[in-house]
Amino acid sequence: MKKIGPPSVILAATLLIAACAGGEPESAVESGASIADRLAQFAPVTLNFEASLLDDRQKRVLRRLVEASDHLDAIYRLQVWRGNADPSSLLPDDETPEAAAIRDYYELMYGPWDRIAEDQPFVPGIGPKPAGAGSYPEDMTKTEFEEWIGLNRSEAGAFTSYYTVIERDNGGLRAVPYSQAYVEQLEAAAAALRDAADHADNASLERFLRLRAESFLTDDYFDSEIAWMRLEDNLIDPTIGPYEVYEDKLFGYKASFESFIGIKDPAASAQLAGLAARLPDLERALPIPDQHKYLDRDFTSPISVIDLVYGAGETRPGVQTIAFNLPNDPRVRETEGSKKVMLRNVIRAKFETNLKPIAEQVLVAEQAERIGFEPYFTRILVHELAHGLGPDYVTGNPDLTVNKALQEHYSALEEAKADAVGTHSLGVLVERGDYSQDFYEEVLIDHVADMFRCVRFGATEAHGLGCLTQFNYLRGAGAITYDEATGKFAADLQEMPGVVSELAGQYLLLQATGDRDGAAAFLERYGSMSPEMEAAIARLDGVVPVDIRPSYAVKEMLRDW
Ligand code: ZN
Repeated sequence: MKKIGPPSVILAATLLIAACAGGEPESAVESGASIADRLAQFAPVTLNFEASLLDDRQKRVLRRLVEASDHLDAIYRLQVWRGNADPSSLLPDDETPEAAAIRDYYELMYGPWDRIAEDQPFVPGIGPKPAGAGSYPEDMTKTEFEEWIGLNRSEAGAFTSYYTVIERDNGGLRAVPYSQAYVEQLEAAAAALRDAADHADNASLERFLRLRAESFLTDDYFDSEIAWMRLEDNLIDPTIGPYEVYEDKLFGYKASFESFIGIKDPAASAQLAGLAARLPDLERALPIPDQHKYLDRDFTSPISVIDLVYGAGETRPGVQTIAFNLPNDPRVRETEGSKKVMLRNVIRAKFETNLKPIAEQVLVAEQAERIGFEPYFTRILVHELAHGLGPDYVTGNPDLTVNKALQEHYSALEEAKADAVGTHSLGVLVERGDYSQDFYEEVLIDHVADMFRCVRFGATEAHGLGCLTQFNYLRGAGAITYDEATGKFAADLQEMPGVVSELAGQYLLLQATGDRDGAAAFLERYGSMSPEMEAAIARLDGVVPVDIRPSYAVKEMLRDW
């Protein structure tokens, strides 16, 4: 069996969601691989959007949002590493292809460390990445920080704040608010947001932009986070500010700047609203006894679908986010909930460069031809919605969550459940006449191809293991067939619907009964890679890229607007 390591990037909220519908691919190259091979793992794509939806005032808003994003991008580079202030001294400047490749990969990674190969340095003469990235003095230890707070209790809040940088100061330490540390960039970004607000005709958008501009100057993000949750009927959909703390691997305190500037996708949003309205019916139709169902659950959890017009800061380097869930501030989540945003054109780009070529390698030709974006995107939507279906608590034990009961087996089972329940639910919607039989067959074929995509993440990762158990169960029950002569697989379109529902029932029952031993036995029985699958996965190496490298069509458009 091919040895597959854990995903190389630390996962937290944004990436977990990205992982939820995508997972975190491991690097396909060996350590010490050439820079050209590393670059080849990323397929270049241009992210486009429907610019005809915008009037002149909206184009002005977009222009300013791109400007503000670029200012935050400059901050983020410093948050990754203080050395990014002047990389010219460490990068080779000759005209050889090797030197050009190093400069290019540096630009892709936002620094001299390979984000999809456990942060290995790839620039000669560079040491390991500082755990605190650019947010702490590089020679400061965890102990020094903790001792300093111990001696200066009144400064603890400022030191552990999301929105400060730690500096050396006369032999001691000092917490500098972002609004001072990055004053030049944040004042420029705030000015751009204010001009955008002046031209925003949607009141909720104008309010968010004004409040967010103020946050940049005050380091107080509470009101603008609430305004972001309350964006309504806006076409332009900006998420812009300091959000996630993954870059700070020393303490996980310091929030990195990033921006996702989107245009809401009206057709996809309508599809989503239609699906969300069916959730109570789908809970009722779960393939488990009624005693385990939550028929009076509150199903309202906002999801919006955008096309990404421009991304900057933390979302830019390495593996691309396809969805995120914000805000992180628990005070805002308590009263406003949180919002999931799906990036449709990013998902489409990954579909074209990843799922389609995988299908061509592993599926029989007549099924590979039927792989389409709409069934793929619909399955991702339904997977996300299916996380909200089924047992939250062990039946008859209202104090015991499924998560606590299943412990280390929970994540893999929950991801597999979301897949199987998703496909089962689409079958239910076909019976109701919401989708055609033809579409459902494409969903089944997509489900088979997609299991190869996520098994690539490795059996030590929740999605990879979850997919492996689905694949082996379906294969064992004859719902997936294998042609030994060609090494290709196919969905048995007659058998698969029934077997998927049965499998969904298995996952749901393990959850409902909180059966940890049963879950362990199931994962053990179905969680290893067969030689036939191993051979198919091996065919993908070096053929199918690990991720995409986007450029943004808006940059070109801005020249003509
Ligand atoms: Zn998921």
